Amino acid sequence: MSRKSRLLSLLGGLVLQERVVRAVRVPSSSFRIVDLAPPPSGERAWGPGDKVQVLLDDEDEVRTYTPVASGADGSMSLVAFVHGDTPASRWAQRVTAGQRVRFMAPARSLSMPPGPITLIGDETSLAVAAAYSRARPGEVRALFEVGDGAATADTVSELGLADVTIATRTGDGHGAALLDAIGDVRGSVGLTGGGALIQRVRDGLRDGGVRDIKAKAYWIEGRRGID
Ligand SMILES: Cc1cc2nc3c(=O)[nH]c(=O)nc-3n(C[C@H](O)[C@H](O)[C@H](O)COP(=O)(O)OP(=O)(O)OC[C@H]3O[C@@H](n4cnc5c(N)ncnc54)[C@H](O)[C@@H]3O)c2cc1C
Repeated sequence: MSRKSRLLSLLGGLVLQERVVRAVRVPSSSFRIVDLAPPPSGERAWGPGDKVQVLLDDEDEVRTYTPVASGADGSMSLVAFVHGDTPASRWAQRVTAGQRVRFMAPARSLSMPPGPITLIGDETSLAVAAAYSRARPGEVRALFEVGDGAATADTVSELGLADVTIATRTGDGHGAALLDAIGDVRGSVGLTGGGALIQRVRDGLRDGGVRDIKAKAYWIEGRRGID
């Protein structure tokens, strides 16, 4: 059990919110979309780009997800990438309708200025793009670099995301395929996902004269639960 999950378990209802899983969608074997019922109050107390830190049942670990608003009643969905035999991947494949999910109250993570934006990332970035696209229809362009283009395309379609480019990762390392695919960018750029991808794409964009970049690493090779 990690120190953070032990602390959260001890503090319980003082800091944790709880939602019931309404449904789990499986758009492809690499993703789960976990639909959570609204809170009893019906309040929607978070915005696009926020994060929730979820206590993973039966793993005693805490991992971070980006909530996507799925209704005006405060209901939200989590989009979980399944990438191997890790606590978050095991949890995502196990979680079922009717179960309860506990998490720390949503907190700000990637705040983008108003107007058109370009969001760039990997498999872990689908949710942040969906969250902003729902809040700002027609203003979000998204580009993802992924291992499995077909699985990502199915998930992008299930999330109803438009104006998306999917680049398949190449042997040249994280970010190389994205840099080839980006072209010109629109508005502020939000960079999320793996640390190596962020570094390479940020350097490439800066070399091309793009200055308005906000970056947030979602995971780092060799490290666990970085948030
Ligand atoms: C603010 C924020 C928002 C996030 N939102 C989302 C989201 O909406 N959906 C989502 O799926 N993830 C999201 N993430 C990323 C997710 O929290 C991490 O990928 C998480 O660490 C995965 O936990 P794990 O138990 O699978 O792996 P860990 O136990 O944390 O790591 C084990 C090893 O797996 C590798 N690894 C970790 N993540 C990945 C990955 N994505 N791809 C390939 N290898 C990896 C690393 O080498 C690591 O050493 C977010 C992270 C942050 C900080």
